[in-house]
Amino acid sequence: MAQADSRQEVIVVGGGPAGLMAAGQAATRGLQVILLEKKHLPARKLGITGKGRCNLTNTAANDDFLRTFGHGAKFMRFALGRFSSRDLVSFFNSLGLETEEERGGRVFPRTQQASDVVRALVGWVKEAGVKIKTAKAVRQIVAEKGRVRGVVTDKHGTTEEFFRGENIVIATGGASYPATGSTGDGYALARALGHEIVPVYPGLVPLETKGDTAPMMQGLSLRNVRAGIYVQGKKQVEDFGEMLFTHFGVSGPIVLSLSKDVVRALSRNLEVKLVIDLKPAVSHTALKSRISSRMHARGRKKISNLLKEFLPIKMIPVFLKNSDIDPDKPGSDLSASEQKALRMWCKELCMDITGYRSFNEAIITSGGIKLSEVDPRTMQSRKVQGLYFAGEVLDVDAGTGGFNLQAAFSTGWVAGNSVTARQG
Ligand SMILES: Cc1cc2nc3c(=O)[nH]c(=O)nc-3n(C[C@H](O)[C@H](O)[C@H](O)COP(=O)(O)OP(=O)(O)OC[C@H]3O[C@@H](n4cnc5c(N)ncnc54)[C@H](O)[C@@H]3O)c2cc1C
Repeated sequence: MAQADSRQEVIVVGGGPAGLMAAGQAATRGLQVILLEKKHLPARKLGITGKGRCNLTNTAANDDFLRTFGHGAKFMRFALGRFSSRDLVSFFNSLGLETEEERGGRVFPRTQQASDVVRALVGWVKEAGVKIKTAKAVRQIVAEKGRVRGVVTDKHGTTEEFFRGENIVIATGGASYPATGSTGDGYALARALGHEIVPVYPGLVPLETKGDTAPMMQGLSLRNVRAGIYVQGKKQVEDFGEMLFTHFGVSGPIVLSLSKDVVRALSRNLEVKLVIDLKPAVSHTALKSRISSRMHARGRKKISNLLKEFLPIKMIPVFLKNSDIDPDKPGSDLSASEQKALRMWCKELCMDITGYRSFNEAIITSGGIKLSEVDPRTMQSRKVQGLYFAGEVLDVDAGTGGFNLQAAFSTGWVAGNSVTARQG
């Protein structure tokens, strides 16, 4: 096996936001750092975040920020305390990248280009003196007597090289959007060293629905709706905002944010329903009288025309087919039960959730390196000395809004500031 380079003080595995931040911080502290990235370029995923605009972080108050991490909140408290969203914004501003805040406290680069974030970050890392080696996939971490010794890489699946190192930061990301390089390698690397991996699932992922109701409305996007998830008939969680019908089911911001509970329930073989309230500002009673009065006032008009007052155009034929109502029927002929069907469609449009999309379409990965085996103050492994973790490879994930990138940057910052050179 070829021996590459001399001994490194720090080896960072993975050139995403977490790895780049860890590497840059360690190098800024004067340590000798090498970053090994599997792809030909670092930060492929960062470059497509936020639909190409990169939602860097969020200005939510500390407690609200932490709450988005659910079970990972306690673990994240220290890292966010050391390197907060305000610190991240200052950091990028100091690199010449201006930022601006949008609805919901979401922070984006002023240029609206994720590629500018990548350029600023990678430029800073190189300037700090980090040696970035691309097309190097780490296949094994070598440890002896409870301490890391180095890593073994392969290139295009063949050549093997050994890099000696005193500290190793695993920042390989999760398993979602594998084409960007995040294929879950970190789990196997850590497992081989005795770490437990909390089972991984696609997170922030579109959902599949039963039947052809959703596919018939493919492309229809709804705003200001409320959607709830019912597991075995019991309401679990709800959200308000935008969603979208697709050829397989449903997607869009509120569906992604609800997906975590759905994936968990489906993996336990429980029955899951999505119930959409198209008119959350109108009560059942108010809607009942509005439907009745409109049908009588404009009664000679065809129902398919009158429905435009209540439903988006693309939804009308789907409602009529589902309710078995003749589209040519005059509004005044609509029976009480047909009026009720319209009201229920508006207030409680119900769909059976049959599945969720794969890691290929998931924004993040739920699960990962078990948090109790990592020291949140340093990101160091509690099992192997000199081994650190940063970013999505950890069992930490949050909703949309810039929280996941902040987690990657904050944990990367802590790891990069915790690694130490051994004397002698
Ligand atoms: C489409 C999309 C949009 C998103 N938008 C946002 C957003 O706007 N805001 C937000 O907060 N979050 C967003 N996210 C989530 C966010 O991108 C991730 O949480 C974040 O990138 C995780 O950073 P990371 O450094 O831990 O891992 P990654 O960004 O996944 O980087 C891991 C790196 O490690 C490399 N690697 C993997 N295995 C090896 C190996 N064996 N050897 C060497 N290198 C390896 C990979 O090639 C990759 O470059 C989005 C995700 C997706 C998929």
